[in-house]
Amino acid sequence: MHLLIVEDEEKIANFLRRGFIEEHFAVDVAKDGEQALYETDINDYDCIILDILLPKVDGITVCRKIRAKSTTTSILMLTAKDAVEDKITGLDAGADDYVTKPFSFGELSARVRALIRRGRKADPVVLTFDTLSLNPATKTAQRNGKTIILTSREYALLEYFMRNPNMVLSKTQIMEHVWDYNYEGMSNIVETYVKYLRKKIKTKDTDMELIHTMRGSGYILKQG
Ligand code: CA
Repeated sequence: MHLLIVEDEEKIANFLRRGFIEEHFAVDVAKDGEQALYETDINDYDCIILDILLPKVDGITVCRKIRAKSTTTSILMLTAKDAVEDKITGLDAGADDYVTKPFSFGELSARVRALIRRGRKADPVVLTFDTLSLNPATKTAQRNGKTIILTSREYALLEYFMRNPNMVLSKTQIMEHVWDYNYEGMSNIVETYVKYLRKKIKTKDTDMELIHTMRGSGYILKQG
């Protein structure tokens, strides 16, 4: 398996390079966006680990350009801790997954393996959070490998949470993103759907609660 690491911080790049070599990958390193585009022109990578903040050409632009020429390479973005906007932009630019800095090598390598296993085919990005994943192509969610059948509103609600993890979302924000602005129904619609969703994403008794109520301010998707 051929891997390209695009990272300008030498320490991180070396750490990743060593780790993936130990896991029997063939590893190339690009120090900036320009070099990344050059390497992807002449090599066919199975997976690219792409930092967002890069000299010369930024990671988002690199991602778009790689996506324009290849749909089979998996792209995993490295994003800063609270940059939710980066994650969304990255996924929209065609990244398959992201890992937040600082990360553990174990998690990163597991995600790379999963991406390579899954392959890219024609399906778009799969959103993941904890043991939950959401596939916009099939409009289905999975937890612990179990498929969860969602109604269209439940799906939209879950997608909104999964695109904004670890952020408090007010009922008004949720209303605006999940129901169209003409909605004139029950005023407790958000509570009702959160309740439905919680029940559905609990596929077994030991599943952790992921959607938490923030009293007076809204809801948050987070671990524990
Ligand atoms: Ca960087």
